[in-house]
Amino acid sequence: MAKISYSSKINKIRSFALILVFAGILLMYVGIMFKKFPWVMATFFVLGMLSVIFSCVVYLWIGSLSIKAVPVVCPNCHKPTKVLGHVDACMHCNQPLTINKELEGLDFDERYNKRHFRKEALSKIKKENNQS
Ligand SMILES: [Zn+2]
Repeated sequence: MAKISYSSKINKIRSFALILVFAGILLMYVGIMFKKFPWVMATFFVLGMLSVIFSCVVYLWIGSLSIKAVPVVCPNCHKPTKVLGHVDACMHCNQPLTINKELEGLDFDERYNKRHFRKEALSKIKKENNQS
């Protein structure tokens, strides 16, 4: 079986927010090095602050997403995890998970989260089942 290079959506967003915090601190740190040029320093500080503020917004967004996500117990590692959308991966072991019964047993594809793609794929499967 091919290895799935896909991680949980919540994990992805969380690491993105973490990177933003570090980027913000780094920008402010660079700003301090330009003490002799107040406007350069101010620009870096503002950029750094914006980055930190934006990461806070992203963290809040993750919070609201987590509430909407469906809590499940991963069948692979038996740890509680959350499924966001129709298909997602386990936060601990990246086991692909689905909460859509119709998608059970299908090869993992991130595109199943898109309604159009999912519908097309499912109707194709139904047709094949009817023929056989
Ligand atoms: Zn797992």
